[in-house]
Amino acid sequence: MTARLTFEKRPFEKRLVAWLSGAGDALVSVLFPAGCRLCERVLLSASTVPICEECLGSFPALGGAACETCGQPLAAWSLGRGGGEAVGAGLVCPECQGREYGFERARSYALYKGALVRAIVLLKFERVEPLGRWFAERLAEVARREGIAADVVVPVPLHRQRERERGYNQADLVARPLARKLGLPYRAVLLVRTKPRPDKHILSLEERWDSVRGAFAARPGSKVDNLRVLLVDDVMTTGATLDACARALRGAGAKSVIGLTVARAARHPAVGFDESKPRDAR
Ligand SMILES: [Zn+2]
Ligand SMILES: [Zn+2]
Repeated sequence: MTARLTFEKRPFEKRLVAWLSGAGDALVSVLFPAGCRLCERVLLSASTVPICEECLGSFPALGGAACETCGQPLAAWSLGRGGGEAVGAGLVCPECQGREYGFERARSYALYKGALVRAIVLLKFERVEPLGRWFAERLAEVARREGIAADVVVPVPLHRQRERERGYNQADLVARPLARKLGLPYRAVLLVRTKPRPDKHILSLEERWDSVRGAFAARPGSKVDNLRVLLVDDVMTTGATLDACARALRGAGAKSVIGLTVARAARHPAVGFDESKPRDAR
């Protein structure tokens, strides 16, 4: 990338790079060699996403039978002790039975497992924007498949302090291009996190719910009246963060909130989370 940027102002080299791009992916990869950030295979395509096709293809995408409310795949709970219960047209997992969320439903692109865990780390700590755009394409596909209709896209915010330390909000890297792909207005600062998350890295399920309760607020004067909000985040663990954000949005007048995340923790009713539990949801 740096090499290409230094060419910017020189017309001959600009033409050369344009010609190279047209000359095929393999040639570009010879001249601009780079390894996959997850497995170190040489990247053979000129894509700006620094992850190889094999790794991208290994992400455990969701799409089969799932909980109507939280999107938890059916296989994750039907193997455990609790059975699903038919509610209306769909099934509701044991976690969601008898639970009231601020959001209408939540859906995710894939399970938080394997190579996807490390890809999320790249998004979260290294600001790999092309990866954010790639995830946004996947979420646009999920939104279409699930028939999700919305009026506005809003990212789950970081606390001011955290955003200053990190320099950006990882949810923004996905939510902004997603809004563009869906042709919807984007409101990056509609929600604010008023209570920082605790320093402790691993929180129990109950602690997670406690730590985000009342932690978000709609910015005074923000216009969400009667809007259907698409709320976007990188990882959904218990649903507590999406729930707290959705409650703040509903309190500010939003008509409905649907959560959409890149990944979701695989939960098993008998054992809680699987071995790849997120070490730090935000
Ligand atoms: Zn790879
Ligand atoms: Zn559920």
